[in-house]
Amino acid sequence: MDNPRHIDLHNHSTASDGALSPAALVRQAFDAGLSAMAITDHDCLDGIDEALAEGAKLGIEVVPGVELSTKRPDGGSLHVLGYWIRQDHDEFNQTLATIREGRHDRNTRIFKKLAELGAPIEASRVADLAGGDVVGRPHIAQALVEAGHVKSKQEAFDRYLAHGKPAYQSRRRLDPKEAIALLHAAGGLAVLAHPAIHDIPKEELKAEIQSMVEAGLDGIEVHYPHHNQATQTWLLNLAAEFNLAVTGGSDFHGDFKANQPMGHPFVPAALLEKLKARRKD
Ligand code: AMP
Ligand code: ZN
Ligand code: FE
Ligand code: FE
Repeated sequence: MDNPRHIDLHNHSTASDGALSPAALVRQAFDAGLSAMAITDHDCLDGIDEALAEGAKLGIEVVPGVELSTKRPDGGSLHVLGYWIRQDHDEFNQTLATIREGRHDRNTRIFKKLAELGAPIEASRVADLAGGDVVGRPHIAQALVEAGHVKSKQEAFDRYLAHGKPAYQSRRRLDPKEAIALLHAAGGLAVLAHPAIHDIPKEELKAEIQSMVEAGLDGIEVHYPHHNQATQTWLLNLAAEFNLAVTGGSDFHGDFKANQPMGHPFVPAALLEKLKARRKD
């Protein structure tokens, strides 16, 4: 029997909060037998060129991508993946730079809160762990583990950093419709990431997806590690109802999310062809 071709359209590198360099990320996808993978760093396009070069070398298709966090009316998040955005688009790059500055301000407030809560960490250590422009809560979680304040990164989120926990601080985020418009302006497609991990009641989530569809949403990430069978079926029906492309990925971060290995769940390669068919150029 043929080995069915499979893909992974959601992966993070050291350009944001993943553990592997962009080239190592692509090599891992190649070694896992994937026929295509996407690099989707948070708020940053810096890893794309290296990933594309490695993909060309190894003979695996690399889809250039990005992941944006957007702000829901209640302050919660929805993440939007962008694929095939133009890397030289000025407005897009300026907005990403502003969002990264917003991360910096937010992180400073988190450090202050953590110190007040008796769990101080060194900002310089967090910057070292991040190694670049995109400093995220997973890096802060790692610093909390290293400083001995918690035993695991998950505990760092559960006790301090998750939405609703005492060191949580909001940051500048786009509205979901703004994110879609910006991704389209930069020549890309917009796909709603892991819609069901935020514990939004289904009717509310459906209404929100409908408003994103009206703003031009192209697809929805149905296949995702934390989506159970019932959730996937519900999302597949929504995709059919709203005429959305279906995508999937692991949200691989290397050691920063050790329980989400690349290539899982299984995402058939045919879905990438259907997504590509939505591209205008
Ligand atoms: P940031 O973009 O800096 O706000 O960090 C967001 C990242 O933190 C997400 O992509 C997840 O990897 C991680 N994260 C957010 N909330 C949680 C949580 N409750 N438990 C574990 N990881 C989380
Ligand atoms: Zn991440
Ligand atoms: Fe996400
Ligand atoms: Fe992600």
